Amino acid sequence: MKTGKLAKTFRVESGKHFRLKDFDPADTGHWKSKDHATEALVEGIARTAELQDRLYAQNNWALLLIFQAMDAAGKDGAIKHVMSGVNPQGCQVYSFKAPSEVELQHDFLWRTTRDLPERGHIGIFNRSYYEEVLVVRVHPEILKSQKTPPSLVGKKIWEERFEDIRCFERHMARSGTVIRKFFLHVSKKEQKNRFLERLEQPEKNWKFSAGDVRERACWDDYQEAYGDMIRNTATEHAPWYVVPADNKWFTRLVISTVIVDTLESLDLQYPKVDAAKRKELDAAKKGLLKE
Ligand code: ATP
Ligand code: MG
Repeated sequence: MKTGKLAKTFRVESGKHFRLKDFDPADTGHWKSKDHATEALVEGIARTAELQDRLYAQNNWALLLIFQAMDAAGKDGAIKHVMSGVNPQGCQVYSFKAPSEVELQHDFLWRTTRDLPERGHIGIFNRSYYEEVLVVRVHPEILKSQKTPPSLVGKKIWEERFEDIRCFERHMARSGTVIRKFFLHVSKKEQKNRFLERLEQPEKNWKFSAGDVRERACWDDYQEAYGDMIRNTATEHAPWYVVPADNKWFTRLVISTVIVDTLESLDLQYPKVDAAKRKELDAAKKGLLKE
């Protein structure tokens, strides 16, 4: 089955009329089951690998994929799936936890800018500078530990951060880093099921931390923060995708489709061999055959 307009369905590139509640975490479009999607998933992985090879060879564009979500929404699994077909040499994953002392000595974008993908590469951010308008907004006491001069932390702090992020992403887009942002939209009910699985299955115990339940208690505040974040930072050059996350196979299908569509839109070509290079190659071949 063709993936067609799948990516477009979940793309948000303007915050104007955006409401998170218009998106259903259990949506699977016209795809009925995992089996139904398997072929498209396998094709997506293969196509990503081909396109990544060109991206790397052409060495002009970079692709930055940002993943944000509530705990247990499936970020790690989705990233593993995306990575499964690509050449590790051209793809890096960075996970951002609470900032260290050193990182707090700098502005909030600093630690992530160190890990931006080079030209020709795919960079994956598992959490990102968006935590600065999510966890920090839900727990404003974190702001106090950030050492920003108090006179600069006013009522408009979130608006200012949104503006800084928009400007930063526009700058990146203008220099050739294509940004695609994924919010894995899981329901509260499904998160509970997944937490229970993590508690009940010994091989999943390590994935659970008591903090996860504490954050779950702030569910509504997080949903509001996510909604506001998307409304304020969805742009044409750095769109958000609100990906239904109650069915992991569908989450992966949507993400894979977005990546393939994005890379295809870049018209990636292997570098052309000019006359001088052709001569060089011919001479090398001749030499080898003569050995
Ligand atoms: P994940 O939950 O992403 O799968 P993990 O469980 O391995 O990762 P955690 O110890 O939960 O790792 O680390 C992520 C935590 O770090 C999250 O609770 C997140 O909100 C927090 N965090 C990330 N960035 C920031 C930030 N800028 N300020 C404060 N906390 C942050
Ligand atoms: Mg966690």
